Amino acid sequence: MENCIFCQIAQKKLQAQIRYEDQQVIAFDDVNPKMPVHILVIPKKHIESVNKIAEEDTKVVGQLILAAAKLAKQLKIEAQGYRLIFNQGQHAGQVVNHIHLHLVGGQRLGPMV
Ligand code: 5GP
Ligand code: ZN
Repeated sequence: MENCIFCQIAQKKLQAQIRYEDQQVIAFDDVNPKMPVHILVIPKKHIESVNKIAEEDTKVVGQLILAAAKLAKQLKIEAQGYRLIFNQGQHAGQVVNHIHLHLVGGQRLGPMV
C-alpha cells in the first residue's frame, strides 16, 4: 500500500529501529514509546486491521504473536510479563491502518479490563 507508513517501514523506505525480521513479519520500536519496551510487530503484507483479517491471514497473525514472544525472551521480560495489544478502530484509538501488535512491558502495567 503506497501511502501506508508501516508498509514503507517494511520496505525500508522509512527508517525505524528494527528489532526482528523474517519473511512475513517485521518488528520495530514504537516512535513514541509508552513503556520502557514498546515494539510494534506487523505483517509485511498490508492488512488494515483486526476487522480485515481473512482466513488466509490467520497464519501470519499467529506469527506476529510468536515473534512478540521471541522478542520478549530476547529482551528478558518474558518472566516478569508483558502485554500484547491490537487496537481496532476509533474507540480503541487505532491511528495506523496497517495491523500491528503492540508489545509493551519493562514495568508493571495497570489493569486494562
Ligand atoms: P495504534 O494507536 O494505531 O494502535 O498505534 C500506532 C502506533 O504507531 C503508535 O503507538 C505510534 O506511536 C506509532 N507510530 C506512528 N507512526 C510511526 C512511525 O512512523 N514510526 C514508528 N516506529 N512508529 C509509529
Ligand atoms: Zn500497510
